[in-house]
Amino acid sequence: MKFISTRDKNRVVTFKEAVFQGLSPEGGLFVPDSTPDLSKLYAGMTADTPFNESAIQLTAAVMKDEMDRETAARIINRAYYFKPEIVDAGNDIFIEELFHGPSSAFKDFGACFLAASMEEFLQSDNRKAIILTATSGDTGSAVAQAFFDKKNIDVVILYPSGRVSPLQEKQLTTLGKNVRALEVKGSFDDCQRMVKQIFTSPDMKYLPLTSANSINLGRLFPQSFYYMYAYNQLKAKYKNIVFCVPSGNFGNLTAGVLDWCWGMPVKEFIAATNLNNEVPLYLESGKYEPHPSFKTYSNAMDVGDPSNFERLRYIFNDDYKKMGQMIKGAWVSNEDTLKAIKDFYAEKKMFIDPHTAVGYVASCRYREKYQPKDTAIVSLSTAHPGKFLEVVEEATGKHPALPPNLEKLLKLEKHSVVVDNTAEALKEYLKKTF
Ligand SMILES: *Cc1c(COP(=O)(O)O)cnc(C)c1O
Repeated sequence: MKFISTRDKNRVVTFKEAVFQGLSPEGGLFVPDSTPDLSKLYAGMTADTPFNESAIQLTAAVMKDEMDRETAARIINRAYYFKPEIVDAGNDIFIEELFHGPSSAFKDFGACFLAASMEEFLQSDNRKAIILTATSGDTGSAVAQAFFDKKNIDVVILYPSGRVSPLQEKQLTTLGKNVRALEVKGSFDDCQRMVKQIFTSPDMKYLPLTSANSINLGRLFPQSFYYMYAYNQLKAKYKNIVFCVPSGNFGNLTAGVLDWCWGMPVKEFIAATNLNNEVPLYLESGKYEPHPSFKTYSNAMDVGDPSNFERLRYIFNDDYKKMGQMIKGAWVSNEDTLKAIKDFYAEKKMFIDPHTAVGYVASCRYREKYQPKDTAIVSLSTAHPGKFLEVVEEATGKHPALPPNLEKLLKLEKHSVVVDNTAEALKEYLKKTF
């Protein structure tokens, strides 16, 4: 398989090239250039197939022109010491917890695979890379943890001083070694602008700079693994599987759609959003109206113009009716999000975070509306409840514990370099450091 740009099908790249380029030069996103039929591979796995083994098989099949099984196994086994956990929530709804990785959010599945792939490719080519990225909090911590201590890779992360949560700041600034945190005297937008300017600066071309942002194919592809894993766990017990995906930039959902394209039996997807409901509205009317994002309790999903929507449109030939046959939209208000966290705790003595709650509400509504027979609804859980303490506390009156790996961080000392919010300041830092 090769990969092509959503905006230019003559722009053909390998997986390796897509990983280091991130975005296609004309601004498109990389998508598979063909649709292999892997239905036999999916059918051959069972509930006993370990997560890593299933991921190795899928990677070796999809990337067979580029990597053998041993290479795929090296990458996967370096990326994942963690796996999804599936919790039966009753009424044929299953919560698939994706937060058992280093930053306690589902983005670890993408970031860890990307980091392990880059390390593999750089070592075999004997070259180095510098990851330069701006963060408003969550993405940066997944990237920092994933790339920590990887060979031939340096990481520079810019974050807005005083505008990320104390825990997020610890996640960025306590790692050390190859991970450097720059505390920018400015906003997240300043950080993003500075990074962009460096990438387009002719006098910085001498540095092997690369990005690791969420549109990178190396982060998208591995998110297909946990859909396959849930399918493997549930297929013996249920005839149909529906996936419900709390969505912001729609990378998560797009990865599930890839599994379906490659022959994994999925009945339907539910695209669950908060008040930023431009995609659910599009699925109803065919009209896409992006907007500045609204602030909600599920802030990692506060996106008014999702970047991966372009990939979804490409996959469904820009036909909203075709997309609507496979993807049902649902959006959930702040009040209903809070109520779901509260009710879930009251019934099951278990905390869920606000993003997971949006998905859970959408799953329950779907079940009530369609009463599907012999159908498991897998509701993806994207973050550990301890990462969104304030909202969970407001809903339940209780204080969820942080996961132990994050609790440890709070005691470590912060190391950051403060810089002005100009591209010049960043240039000077990079020239001095590398
Ligand atoms: C990023 C994120 C999402 C949204 O995922 P997309 O792939 O952008 O749709 C949902 N929940 C959490 C906790 C996230 O960090």
